[in-house]
Amino acid sequence: MNLEKAGGRLCSGKRASLPAARPFPVIQKVMASMAHLQKEKLQLQEELLGLQEKLAAQENDELSLSLQLQGQVETLKAKVLEQAQEISRLRSELGGTDAEKHRDLLAAENERLRQEMKACEGELRELRRQQQQQAPCRDCHHLQENAGLQEQLSQLQREAEETRAKLVELDLEVQQKTNRLAEVELRLKDSLAERAEEEERLSRRLRDSQETIASLKSQPQQIKYIIKTVEVESAKAKQALCETQSRNQYLQEQVGMQRQVLKEMEQQLQSSQKTEAQLRAQIVMYEAELERAHGQMLEEMQAMEEEKNRAIEEAFSRAQVEMKAVHENLAGVRTNLLTLQPALRTLTHDYNSLKRQVRDFPLLLQETLRSARAEISQAIEEVHSTNRELLRKYRRELQLRKKCHNELVRLKGNIRVFGRVRPITKEDGEGPEAANAVTFDTDDDAVLHLLHKGKQVSFELDKVFPPQASQEEVFQEVQALVTSCIDGYNVCIFAYGQTGAGKTYTMEGTAANPGINQRALQLLFSEVRSKAADWDYTITVSAAEIYNESLRDLLGKEPQEKLEIKLCPDGSGQLYVPGLTEFRVQSVEDINKVFDFGHVKRVTECTNLNEHSSRSHALLIITVRGLDRSTGLRTTGKLNLVDLAGSERVGRSGAEGSRLREAQHINKSLSALGDVIYALRSRQGHVPFRNSKLTYLLQDSLSGDSKTLMMVQVSPAEKNTSETLCSLKFAERVRSVELGPVSRKAELASWPSQEQLEGDSPGSAATPGRGHASHSPGQLSSRSASIRRKLHTSGKLRSVPL
Ligand code: ADP
Ligand code: MG
Repeated sequence: MNLEKAGGRLCSGKRASLPAARPFPVIQKVMASMAHLQKEKLQLQEELLGLQEKLAAQENDELSLSLQLQGQVETLKAKVLEQAQEISRLRSELGGTDAEKHRDLLAAENERLRQEMKACEGELRELRRQQQQQAPCRDCHHLQENAGLQEQLSQLQREAEETRAKLVELDLEVQQKTNRLAEVELRLKDSLAERAEEEERLSRRLRDSQETIASLKSQPQQIKYIIKTVEVESAKAKQALCETQSRNQYLQEQVGMQRQVLKEMEQQLQSSQKTEAQLRAQIVMYEAELERAHGQMLEEMQAMEEEKNRAIEEAFSRAQVEMKAVHENLAGVRTNLLTLQPALRTLTHDYNSLKRQVRDFPLLLQETLRSARAEISQAIEEVHSTNRELLRKYRRELQLRKKCHNELVRLKGNIRVFGRVRPITKEDGEGPEAANAVTFDTDDDAVLHLLHKGKQVSFELDKVFPPQASQEEVFQEVQALVTSCIDGYNVCIFAYGQTGAGKTYTMEGTAANPGINQRALQLLFSEVRSKAADWDYTITVSAAEIYNESLRDLLGKEPQEKLEIKLCPDGSGQLYVPGLTEFRVQSVEDINKVFDFGHVKRVTECTNLNEHSSRSHALLIITVRGLDRSTGLRTTGKLNLVDLAGSERVGRSGAEGSRLREAQHINKSLSALGDVIYALRSRQGHVPFRNSKLTYLLQDSLSGDSKTLMMVQVSPAEKNTSETLCSLKFAERVRSVELGPVSRKAELASWPSQEQLEGDSPGSAATPGRGHASHSPGQLSSRSASIRRKLHTSGKLRSVPL
């Protein structure tokens, strides 16, 4: 599979004109697969050899076994032959007796056995031949059975051997007895013949004598004489006859004895024949057993043979399958090799061309380097000129941006007023006093409504943040102001509102959720970093507090020391505070250190209105000084972040003595701030900066093209609606002075003090133009009326560009 894949990939690589370095891994893969296949083939061959060796060993075993068997059969045959000879010899000696017939039968039986043996041998030879022809049995577990059977066979053969020995002994005995019998018979025959001859002779003599007697009787004298002689001679003859008869008697006794002996011998022969028959039966039995064992062995061998054949066939078919697979693999490898060859040719060709390229490379490189150098220097030149052009454009754009920004600020107004409503807190308590009195316009984020003494008063600012607005959302709206201080603008952000309205929360925030101060510094850091390629910036921080109209350094060694605001001696008309500590900050850690340091030193006192009430103005003054390295241009921008003291009315706080004095100072400075803003908005020739320490200190940052943001903080609680109303009136008035010089003048003339703000009735504030309507007739009223009209006709409040 791998090979095929490799081959396929290679072919496709070749079609795609074969990238110079790619085919090598393919060839390596193919070679690896070939090696793997070769290894497999070798392993298979080894297995095959092992099988063949096993088979050969088995064959050898079987051969030696069959040789043994053959030897045994040979000896048996020889013995049987001997026996047969012996029997034939006996038969020739004894003639056709029963024993002979028996022996003939045995011989026939022997002959039959021999035939069977021969058949067995033939089968054995056939088996051996088949074994030689067939593949070897891989794991012949029948060898042991075979050995057992052979053991049995040899045991039987041993028994047969013993029986045969006994038979031989018996044969010998039979032979001896037969010999003796033959001798006795011979002797008997001789004596019988003798007796017959004697009887013949005697009977002849008797007949002669009787004839003689008769002839004599016919011749009386002579006969008498002769009779007398014969009688005399007859007595002699009678005696001879008696002797002969006694001898005959003796001979007959002898014959009887001989017959007796013969009978005995015949009995002996019969018993020995019986024994022989028994032995033969035993032999027959043994031979039957032998035959059975042989048959069993043959069966076993047959079964073994079959199993062996089966195993051989299986092994053979497995080997064939494996060989086939190996052949197929080999064929695959061959085809792969064949497909690889063109790729190799292409590779060789590529390699040669690469070699040529490498040979020519130094020259080519030198030439290329020369031209590249020329091109690079030309490109550098071009880049330089482009850079110069870009720098020029950039500076022009910078100027343009500054102009645009200024224009935008001018259009939007240098003073922007935002309102932020804090959420109802635990400190507000429960019940109707803590009820929410502030609502918002869903279509206009610059409008809020205050329910005061049963009447709803609407206010329009530049933007209103509802209680759910996050610190981040608030900061997003002020960050443009913050960054403009990098461009050299002075910026003031004030948090205005009654104590507990959320001024400190907006400016400082919490450690987990910082306010404008920390976010502004972080933004400045990141902006400065992004401009670090062209500009060098330093950011310094001062923290001061104005308490009872005296300025104190919050970062100085002696915070109680009152600082003075002075004109710069260089005649530039700039103000400065001698002795005010400035910290250079570079990281958030530095900022935190400064804030912590300042916090400790800030004077906060509690009144009965709110135990966290702050009775001083806290200022964080961030100065950003920049140097454009390419032009040498220097810029200085100041960001003043002011957390004003509480704007609540003194009468309400119930303060007396020093507390009253504090409240008066606060009211005075807040009124002065309002005055300055009015004067600036209405572009008055004289701006009363010096009326308070706060405005005097911030003079630089409030005049000229400086930008100011007033964040008016209000509480939504029912119990705070009077203060909320005052704060929102202040906010709207600050914002409304953008109408124009005439109106501004008029506004400036009628700018109310904190006390005046206190005196505004909600009824008058609810009318179009609201809180300031009684103080600002003319254009202001008409503009407010037009806004209101728009609000009512369109159904939503929109910011109207002024
Ligand atoms: P101030 O400085 O005007 O006296 P604080 O900033 O101390 O008022 O706020 C008074 C309480 O109101 C504080 O507990 C402050 O955490 C909570 N607070 C003020 N503004 C928010 C706001 N936007 N979200 C949540 N809590 C606020
Ligand atoms: Mg505060």
